[in-house]
Amino acid sequence: MMADGGQGTFRRTQSAEYTVRILLECGCWTRARCHPMSDHVRLGCTSGQAHGYRKQWVQSEENGAVNINRTYAARQEALKTEEEKEETA
Ligand SMILES: [Zn+2]
Repeated sequence: MMADGGQGTFRRTQSAEYTVRILLECGCWTRARCHPMSDHVRLGCTSGQAHGYRKQWVQSEENGAVNINRTYAARQEALKTEEEKEETA
């Protein structure tokens, strides 16, 4: 352990560069340096549960700022509506 010698102006965080958390469609979170470039970007699941390497992202967060994948959300909403239709038919 390093003692604080009074020169604590340089603060290290655990993963200084990977400040963006990204929620994938499988429900796992992964980390990245920046937000996904577009709604259509696919990312690998890093949970080690063999969920796959081409997952759609659901939302990304950085410092509490949340960025929603609206394309994904819209598709989920459409699927839900589709199911409701089938139930009532
Ligand atoms: Zn996963």
